[in-house]
Amino acid sequence: MNETENTFDADVIIVGGGPVGATLALALAQGAPSLKVIVLEAQTDAAARRDTRTLALSHGSRLVLERIGVWRKLAAVTPITQIHISQRGSFGRATLSAEEAGLPALGYVIPYAGLQHALHAALQQCGAQYVTGAQVSKVAPGAAAAQVHYTHDGASHVLASRLVALADGGRSLQDIPGVKRECRDYHQAAVVCQVTTELPHKHLAYERFTEDGPAALLPSGEGYALVWTAAPERVAQILALSEAGFLSQLHAHFGDRQGRFLQAGPRSSFPLSLRKSQPITRERLVLIGNAAQMLHPVAGQGFNMGLRDAWELSRQILGCAPEAIGGAAMLERYVAGRRVDTQGGIFFTDLLVRGFSNRLQGLRQARGLALSVLDVLPPLKSFVVRRLIFGAKG
Ligand SMILES: Cc1cc2nc3c(=O)[nH]c(=O)nc-3n(C[C@H](O)[C@H](O)[C@H](O)COP(=O)(O)OP(=O)(O)OC[C@H]3O[C@@H](n4cnc5c(N)ncnc54)[C@H](O)[C@@H]3O)c2cc1C
Repeated sequence: MNETENTFDADVIIVGGGPVGATLALALAQGAPSLKVIVLEAQTDAAARRDTRTLALSHGSRLVLERIGVWRKLAAVTPITQIHISQRGSFGRATLSAEEAGLPALGYVIPYAGLQHALHAALQQCGAQYVTGAQVSKVAPGAAAAQVHYTHDGASHVLASRLVALADGGRSLQDIPGVKRECRDYHQAAVVCQVTTELPHKHLAYERFTEDGPAALLPSGEGYALVWTAAPERVAQILALSEAGFLSQLHAHFGDRQGRFLQAGPRSSFPLSLRKSQPITRERLVLIGNAAQMLHPVAGQGFNMGLRDAWELSRQILGCAPEAIGGAAMLERYVAGRRVDTQGGIFFTDLLVRGFSNRLQGLRQARGLALSVLDVLPPLKSFVVRRLIFGAKG
């Protein structure tokens, strides 16, 4: 297969229509309507809407979603205007505020299902070919073309493309020739659910570090989205508690700042690890979003980093001639453009998880000191806020 035979089925095939894959497709459809883009998504739209995850979007991700025209279509967006950071059982606290940062909000909390609903609606109207219920079983890199094998309506298909972007969330396609998956298991899992509190949230988020792992309360609608991390055995106990038992143990764990916890929605859990794919490109193939890196949710970096992957890849594709799409030079530029942000985000998240989730007395005091210093040094706050919002490139 070569260029002159013109045997490509598409310029870009995107495997996975999650937030990262869908963002890439929309950015390409808007930037170059003549490009042939195919999105293969395993789930149907209705199935995607049942997902109960809650996502914290940074202000930088809002800018990306604005540019692809999806932001104004989102329902149930709750702004975060302040973040209160503390550690349990020790001194030291810091508050980051949108006002100090000169922004309308530090971030936004949104149900994953709501974001998916808006992205899917936009995908159906854009120029990309959007195939739901398409289960990809294999992607094969290749110098002439990358191939994608999938089943749809009981029939098997193979497509050839100048470039395949793998955005499957890193959970389904494990055997990519030449790609290694590194994994650091944190021996932590997260309990997630919606809770309501005695006091209104006033758009204040909490990040509370404890020796068992961080706990976050993110303002969501009238209540909070809770992410409570602990060792897997402890998480199993938490999931098995009655609602009254759960609310009282959450109060003991989290403290009194929001008064009592009044109600909790259905609880679910997910394991936490750091997973990195290496390398993130092969011939005419690129891994983006959670397929490339899966982070601990402590600093809310992973999802936002995935959107920046999609945005940067769209810029690289749109910036080259169609025949250069998927070529080595384009992929090298993409990798170079993402290196600092990805490595910085992984380092920062890993440092937070390992530095704050242990019982060493000296470290506890150092953490308290670090939080106190952060609280009183505006330039340091501004540095931290910019990185939370825009990634390691600030
Ligand atoms: C259980 C869980 C809970 C999470 N909770 C939070 C949270 O509370 N807060 C937060 O900020 N982040 C959370 N995250 C992380 C966040 O969801 C991810 O960072 C984000 O969804 C990554 O987007 P993505 O598009 O790369 O992958 P995904 O959102 O996983 O999307 C991947 C898409 O690919 C499709 N797909 C998968 N395999 C195939 C295949 N073989 N063929 C075709 N399509 C396929 C899937 O159906 C899906 O639509 C959580 C992640 C998980 C796994």
